[in-house]
Amino acid sequence: MKIREIHIYAHDLPVKNPPRVMSSGTVWSLDTTLVRIVSEDGLEGWGETCPVGSTYAEAYANGARAALVEMAPDLIGSDLWPVALHRRMDSLLNGHHYAKAAIDIAAHDLIGKKLGVRVADLLGGALTETVPTYYSTGVGEPDEIARIAKERLAQGYPRIQVKLGGRSVEADIETLHKVWEVIRGSGMRLAADGNRGWNTRDVIRLSRECPHIPLILEQPCNSIEELAVLRNVVQHPIYMDENGVNLSTVITAAGTGLVDGFGMKVTRIGGLHPMRTFRDICAARNLPHTSDDAWGGDIIAAACVHLGATVRPDLNEGAWIAAPYIEGNYDARNGLHIDNGHIALPQGPGLGIEPDREQFGAALASF
Ligand SMILES: [Mg+2]
Repeated sequence: MKIREIHIYAHDLPVKNPPRVMSSGTVWSLDTTLVRIVSEDGLEGWGETCPVGSTYAEAYANGARAALVEMAPDLIGSDLWPVALHRRMDSLLNGHHYAKAAIDIAAHDLIGKKLGVRVADLLGGALTETVPTYYSTGVGEPDEIARIAKERLAQGYPRIQVKLGGRSVEADIETLHKVWEVIRGSGMRLAADGNRGWNTRDVIRLSRECPHIPLILEQPCNSIEELAVLRNVVQHPIYMDENGVNLSTVITAAGTGLVDGFGMKVTRIGGLHPMRTFRDICAARNLPHTSDDAWGGDIIAAACVHLGATVRPDLNEGAWIAAPYIEGNYDARNGLHIDNGHIALPQGPGLGIEPDREQFGAALASF
């Protein structure tokens, strides 16, 4: 199965009730990049990558497109099978996982369609048809975040992630106390996500002032070295998110016991093929993790949900998708929705999404 054509599209995804505030930046609208691959037998596969602004990660929308344009001419005629495809991409460009992920996702979609199987089955087999998700708040006033937590609890979400950092640590501590008041005893799990925005002093204080709250600290500080400092002085579990930039880092973090789990993004690690390896490393060390991406429409959401369906249930922290925060779907019939804190696994072959190509306009580049 070889690549005959690659088409690259840009698409604007406005944020519902803007802006979205995180310690690493504030976003009003996201610029997503879609990739359509046509195989030599005329089948199509879709991929997507959508950095959440330009400051969340070492990734931004124009960077994704520049990297795709750099690789695309030399990917025509390449094999679609993931091992060969990744070797080829790595021979053309060093790094830039978030761009390679769009090609990887399109290849999985296309192979699934060719074989008549779902991407979840290509990734080892679905363990569930309804994948758990979690709600992620922005950084906000303590009472407002507690109100959102109460609402999401009533809607059946099994987990909530509260965004914190980039302001006084007192406000963050007050927010966690107020959220805990409304979810205590419900079984809803709580992640306190600093998005790299705290220093170790503030995390130590926050942990000491929330001794009764069974939260996990997600990417509290900017560097791996700071996580290592915290490791021995805070009582709460630590999850790595933004620092998990490749499998080598994941192996070290898991193998040295640096963290208790991960928030992981399909595009940050390079697509579904490396994500599958990440999933299996976590299973070997009993480390819980999410199966997310930072943002994006139905294509990236479907990729996260297919991977999320294959995660061992006791380690599955959920597949986060941007659907509640954006208007509309690429595929009116099969687009992804959250119901009772879970997402139904798409049923069609490949990703199970047939995007309405008209929404994306003309391709920015075709090869
Ligand atoms: Mg995170």
